[in-house]
Amino acid sequence: MLARGRYRRDRTQHELPKPIPYKRKSAKGNQASAVENGHPLADQHTNERLRAYELASKARFDNIEAVLTSLSAGYGRQDFARWANKTLQAQLGFELPLDVLEQASIGGLNLRTLYSQCVFEQFLAFSKEFFEQDPLNGQQTEQVAKQLQSMGYHAIGVAPCADGRLAHIVSYVLRLPYDLVRRKAHAGALFDVSESVRNWVFIEHMRFREAKPNAANEPTRYLKIASYHFSKADPHHQGCAAHGSDDAKAAQAALDKLTDFRQAIENRFGCGSTIDVVLLGVNTDDDSLRVHVPDERGQVSLERYVDTHTLYHQTMNLDAEAAQRQIANTLVVGNRRARLADDAANLRKVLAWLIERNIAQIDYVHRFEAGCYPDLGHAERFIGIGNGFEEVQLRNLTYYSFLETLEEGLADVQVGIKIFKKLNLCQGRSIPIIIRADYDGRVAESKSRAAKKAQRIEKAVHEQFADLSKVGMLHTLCTLRDYTSHCAAHRLDSETN
Ligand SMILES: [Zn+2]
Repeated sequence: MLARGRYRRDRTQHELPKPIPYKRKSAKGNQASAVENGHPLADQHTNERLRAYELASKARFDNIEAVLTSLSAGYGRQDFARWANKTLQAQLGFELPLDVLEQASIGGLNLRTLYSQCVFEQFLAFSKEFFEQDPLNGQQTEQVAKQLQSMGYHAIGVAPCADGRLAHIVSYVLRLPYDLVRRKAHAGALFDVSESVRNWVFIEHMRFREAKPNAANEPTRYLKIASYHFSKADPHHQGCAAHGSDDAKAAQAALDKLTDFRQAIENRFGCGSTIDVVLLGVNTDDDSLRVHVPDERGQVSLERYVDTHTLYHQTMNLDAEAAQRQIANTLVVGNRRARLADDAANLRKVLAWLIERNIAQIDYVHRFEAGCYPDLGHAERFIGIGNGFEEVQLRNLTYYSFLETLEEGLADVQVGIKIFKKLNLCQGRSIPIIIRADYDGRVAESKSRAAKKAQRIEKAVHEQFADLSKVGMLHTLCTLRDYTSHCAAHRLDSETN
């Protein structure tokens, strides 16, 4: 089976970051156990748990093609559909609807249809496990929420690029509980300012009316993070597709969005209602960050940043407290004018905290991927469009684009299709697109509105990409989910209408 994505062939061809050997003395005093200990700010048990989840989840999708090949070998059997389902159940853990299997067996085995259908079934099983078993402990938000509030923030929103290499930004790169963070992904991190303002109003309204997560008179702020991305190993090809792999352009575009968002709130609700903004650049080779350090007024510039990969190495042989001190020191603005009050003190505190969390992820990549991912480029397994997709917290699993209508999100989906033409069509695999519409289970009719929205998007996708759809190279699945609970996503069936 062909490997997914463009794997780096020879590490020596590029100047890839090399891990610096650990020097910190371990209890036993030998090098081997020092390596096992990892960075003082990384918890190895957590890293092992995250790793096991990543490997098991990706294998669920990656095994599909080999199982389908084995199904081809049994094609022609009299009891083919039943036998195929038995094989699927044994090897992938699910069965396909009999009518789907029978339909795909007419006049030869239609592997393109079966591939997408298997991805859809696997996604539904994956979603169920995610919400019912909480493998990343992302539903345990209390402790982190308290920490955030003590630093002056009551809510946090992340706007990453739709690129699958950033899909794990919340749970892995920043090590935040998914349930605490609002994530809306757009190609090039070009998030919708009006939609973000509406969400901010909703959050402030909850504080005012219900004192959730804290009372409106407490002097905490909303934290908005936008993250662009780049690749140090292959900067001209593996950067952000939406910005032509131009790092400076990607960073400037994300910063402009952040500035517009803050300006929109200040203009409409007054300066007392301002928010804090953070600009992060993610190096998709190793998950390290460029953290843009704000000045004393909270203004961010493209030139002023710290690199967490450098910090990781600089603090590797210190103890945890000394490492934390060193991180905090790097965020002090050198040219601070003495008379100016430091309005960005909280922001620096939260950035130091985020850097510590990111260092645990850099340690993860060092330990499990030798410091650089083998899949430098795209290797997503399916496209996800709509809203929600909280269960997608893994790198390179999904190209996810947030949209309410295909019309407004068309550019994002086109980028996704372009990526999947190379990833899937060139290997003879069809393109599976999962459409998601979340609804509020407390509100009557919310579910049927979501169902209609999903069907509207589905119809528009098949019309827009008719060339692929008509030849059976693009398939869609509509899913719904009650976002007020921890229920899994479910297939939209005709009963919902
Ligand atoms: Zn991008």
